[in-house]
Amino acid sequence: MADATTTTPRGNEALLAREARHGPGLWAPSVAFVRGQGARLWDADGKEYIDCMAGIAVASLGHSHPRLVEAIAEQAGRLIVCPQNLGNDVRAALLEALVSRMPAGLERVFLANSGAEANEAALKWAVAATGRRRVVAAKRGFAGRTMGALSLTWEPSYREPFAPLPYPVDFVAFNDADELEAAVDDDTAVVWLEPIQGEGGVHVADAHYLHLARELATRHGALLAIDEIQSGVGRTGRFLALEHFGVRPDMVTLAKGLAGGVPIGALVMTEGVASAMPKGGHGTTFGGNPLAAAAALAVLGELEEADLLAHVERVGARLHAGLSGLASPRVRSVRGLGLMLGLELKEKAAPVIERLRELGVLVVAAGATVIRFLPPLVITDDDVDAVVERVARALDQRG
Ligand SMILES: *Cc1c(COP(=O)(O)O)cnc(C)c1O
Repeated sequence: MADATTTTPRGNEALLAREARHGPGLWAPSVAFVRGQGARLWDADGKEYIDCMAGIAVASLGHSHPRLVEAIAEQAGRLIVCPQNLGNDVRAALLEALVSRMPAGLERVFLANSGAEANEAALKWAVAATGRRRVVAAKRGFAGRTMGALSLTWEPSYREPFAPLPYPVDFVAFNDADELEAAVDDDTAVVWLEPIQGEGGVHVADAHYLHLARELATRHGALLAIDEIQSGVGRTGRFLALEHFGVRPDMVTLAKGLAGGVPIGALVMTEGVASAMPKGGHGTTFGGNPLAAAAALAVLGELEEADLLAHVERVGARLHAGLSGLASPRVRSVRGLGLMLGLELKEKAAPVIERLRELGVLVVAAGATVIRFLPPLVITDDDVDAVVERVARALDQRG
């Protein structure tokens, strides 16, 4: 890597110290990464890892995918900036490509730059479309950290330091039909759900629960919003996780994997919802920029042409079976869909995650006891088998 800092120490320890000195003090990482290829990552000391985190479901095509690299480079050489009050060829193509992959009726897209921003937009559109403010959302749900999105996020340690939050939310137990039925009423603006709770521990929604949410929203004049920021864009072996359930929401939000690592967020909604916002009622400077649009188009194109949904279904089943087959008394359960899987332990996950890191596998926690697997969608059978074997070893070792 040729740069001007060749005389500056830049192994793991040195990089971590440099970041710790001037960073915001929010994290305490134990490793620094400098290069990636496919589902492999290399740290600053040259050690190789199998990436089962993908930047938290972001690197959908893996690292340095040639199609993505080329799309970004080509677009950077042509036009990076074009705000949404002006038209653009690549953005037009992305809007069409996105809508063509959505359930019928979801045909209007607001492009933003992150998941939280997409959810902020959804909240504003929900208020504009219903004239109401109350939200019904799920316990253990996660919607982001900005004030509006944080209103919808359940985790008390994230919320409480910043209360009161701007939107009133009734939190109901996920998958509990009775609580949902009791909570949705004629004051509800929007029922807000993830089809698989990611941060909250990899909990898959019951189909009848999502259908009940649809029915209740319709009965009470509320909207149904499905947050697919983590579960969308092929992660579960369908373009949207909600396709597993056949539910028809009024709004879907996407972000993480959509542009393969380039910041992006999207709110996809019905014509009826979209038209409720007055002209100029919302906006963003960077949203819909041609660079991110080109990256997203490359991801959508590759999903289709490389038949990645079928691949995800197949390797996801292989990983699920491998993890389920671990004969460890320390495992409570394995759950999830496609390549969004959680291994729940009967003990704290953090020490096992750290041992996996030493063994060259990068995973991420989902709550205190769940190890979450979110590899690039292109991960190979061999890498999946190696991951399972290393998880078995990590569970054999005593912390
Ligand atoms: C990550 C995530 C968000 C927030 O996205 P950011 O880009 O981090 O703001 C929202 N909802 C879900 C389900 C997520 O997983």
